[in-house]
Amino acid sequence: MNWFSRILTVAACSVFFHPVAAQPNPQKPNIIIILGDDIGYGDFGCYGATKVKTPAIDKIAAQGLRFTDAHAASAVCTPSRYALLTGQYAWRNPAGDHILPGDAPLSIKPGTVTLPSILKQAGYKTSVVGKWHLGLADSAPDWNIEIKPGPLEIGFDECFILPATGDRAPCVYLKDHRVVNLDPKDPITVDYEHCIPGHSNVIAGIGRIGNMTGGKSALWKDDAIAETLTTQAVQFMERNRNQPFFLYLATHDIHVPRVPADRFRHASGAGPRGDVIQEFDWTVSEVAKALDRLNLTTNTLLLVSSDNGGILDYGDTRERDGDENSNNGHAFNGPLRGTKGTPYEGGTRVPLIMRWPAKIKPGTTDQLVCLVDTLATCAGITKQKLPPTSAPDSFSLLPIVNGNLKITVRETLIEHSRRMGVREGQWKLVTSGGDAKAKPNGKAELYNLANDIGEKKNVADANPEKVKELTAILRRARQDGHTRP
Ligand code: CA
Repeated sequence: MNWFSRILTVAACSVFFHPVAAQPNPQKPNIIIILGDDIGYGDFGCYGATKVKTPAIDKIAAQGLRFTDAHAASAVCTPSRYALLTGQYAWRNPAGDHILPGDAPLSIKPGTVTLPSILKQAGYKTSVVGKWHLGLADSAPDWNIEIKPGPLEIGFDECFILPATGDRAPCVYLKDHRVVNLDPKDPITVDYEHCIPGHSNVIAGIGRIGNMTGGKSALWKDDAIAETLTTQAVQFMERNRNQPFFLYLATHDIHVPRVPADRFRHASGAGPRGDVIQEFDWTVSEVAKALDRLNLTTNTLLLVSSDNGGILDYGDTRERDGDENSNNGHAFNGPLRGTKGTPYEGGTRVPLIMRWPAKIKPGTTDQLVCLVDTLATCAGITKQKLPPTSAPDSFSLLPIVNGNLKITVRETLIEHSRRMGVREGQWKLVTSGGDAKAKPNGKAELYNLANDIGEKKNVADANPEKVKELTAILRRARQDGHTRP
């Protein structure tokens, strides 16, 4: 080979091989959020559980990043999900700041910048499968006609949802704008005004909140919900394997009523509540298997988390849903104080696992983060700048995704419940009052989580300046209308 041929060969190699080798995968990552319901900080093996087995989740945790100080944006369902999808603390909006009845109007205004809308804008196919609980239509929906606005009007291309919760009427699935399998000759009525309070209105053999008549052919089967939702999720992944997609899979597990498929009954060492965690782990395993099968694992960001902290039972369905005896000492919130609905860490601190093999290095981080940060993070991943007034409380976790674990993403966090919690690093304030409307109902409490993760020793009296400082953080967050820069 003479010198000229050599140059040509080198040039050819440069042209044909160099650019390919130097360029990272240009394909945007798929994004999947598997959001469990009422799963506590201690409910997975990788967070210390021993009586409940979660091998699929533990494996994903080992392949990804496990957060030890991640929070849902609220200690209860609706506000937590509202914040996840809007990047705004739910207590800023009365429509989404409390647990909604099953006939509530849509709490997110069409036109709002949402997690699905920014991903749709980036070319993603977007879907929500599972529990919605953010309201539907402009006022109490007529379940027998097209129901909108709903998920499709705030950024999702398609939906397959439980309208509210598994323990609320109506007990039917909604696909896009219609109730699935509805016989028009057996129309649905739903009534929250004239029903018995609590889980007292029997629908499909189980006591629910709210009344429902008609729609017999459309009623879901409680022990098949996990299988139905998982199948819908996997089918969406299969249909969209060749383009970037966003899947928000919000399981019914492990909320009450806890009615798993037969193969999960008595499968755990922690009663019915443990059994449905193992069913949740099965759902995660099916999604992970589908990713492997479709060859999408490497470039998919998979998040596994929960909408609020754990709780054992609601007092009226103990035998079916689990109680202290069947729970067998399983520490569902690990070392944390409080449960779902409380202002202590057990109310909002939840498991969070992020796996993205192409990008995220496996490990553990104790960074303070919140699910409200998901929106800004996804905007960052898809290289979009958020409009200044959108997602006002969402901090981008991009530095963490990029492996810069030493960069502090957020200094403070407001934990939403009837009494608000304020976090600043290791410090935690539980305010004296509730939300903006509530009257003070106790004295403020202060905890130093660095040496008291169980919030056992109130150090408010010894640290009056810290109490003032954290109180001011909440006041400023309210006054400013935003917390992110
Ligand atoms: Ca919940």
